[in-house]
Amino acid sequence: MNNKEWLRQLSNLTGLPYYEGHKVFGDKSGALIGIRDGYIVAVGPGKGEGGHAAIKILLRYAKAQDPKRVKEALDPAKGKFKQVTVDETSATLARTYSLGKPDAPGIAEELPKLLAVLKTSASPIDGKCEECGRAEPQMVLLNDIPTHYCSGCQVQLSQKLDAAAVEYEKLDTNLGLGLIYGIGAALLGSLAWGGVAYLLHRIFLWGAILIGVFVGKAVVMGIGKVNWSARVMIGVLTAGSVAFGDAIFYALTVMNQEHVTFMAALNAVLANYWKIETSPDGGAVSILFGLIGAGIVMYSTRKPSFKARFAPLGTPAVAVGSIGPK
Ligand SMILES: [Zn+2]
Repeated sequence: MNNKEWLRQLSNLTGLPYYEGHKVFGDKSGALIGIRDGYIVAVGPGKGEGGHAAIKILLRYAKAQDPKRVKEALDPAKGKFKQVTVDETSATLARTYSLGKPDAPGIAEELPKLLAVLKTSASPIDGKCEECGRAEPQMVLLNDIPTHYCSGCQVQLSQKLDAAAVEYEKLDTNLGLGLIYGIGAALLGSLAWGGVAYLLHRIFLWGAILIGVFVGKAVVMGIGKVNWSARVMIGVLTAGSVAFGDAIFYALTVMNQEHVTFMAALNAVLANYWKIETSPDGGAVSILFGLIGAGIVMYSTRKPSFKARFAPLGTPAVAVGSIGPK
């Protein structure tokens, strides 16, 4: 059964309206979105941990609840939903599967059980604006998540985020300090990389990823706001750190075998560096792994999104109470 048929079936079983166009869980087949006992309930296909196919349930309640209490209440009732993430306004449950989707009737049976325990641990929204508490029976999507949000608070949130975006643009970028921190971290990384490789007679490619993360974080700490120069700096310093770490490793090896001083060995290594590094025993791959680590930091420090996208729910494909073809 494809996702859309499955969602139609579940909509008929639960009475939750099916919206084909709303990607609450990121899936293009949409989701069921409705209100049960004053709580917002959404169900649909999505991705669980590790990108596994999953059926997801979103439960939303009045804000500022105790997440620990909600989780303790949901845990014994979650059934085959293994992953439960809870915050002050919502709980998300995911049931991953590998072959066939779980049966819609089974999921329909789980919902009332979850709602029953939710009632013991979190207050319902009861059709009130989640910000100011004024009556707002209509749901609206805020960045794809269903919520009750009155028009006044929608305007306020947009203005607040616009102001935050302006503040972000004003943040200073301290390239000099970023460079100093970055070079320091890169040198430490080289020493650790070369030293460990020499002592243990092997290299750990994931160690190179760590160096990338370490150098990246050091640059970010010094620089403040990450821009393109910062990203280039992180990439170059990481590659340099691992490359120089390789050089230290080769130099230590030469020093030991040829009984020369470390500096003489290092000079000899640097003079033939690319030949050694790109040889079958060379460490060129480790530089790539270092750049993966650098990439992780670059990705995690990208510009935050300051957009509040409000969208009306519109008309469902299957409305409440409709009896569809079986
Ligand atoms: Zn409001």
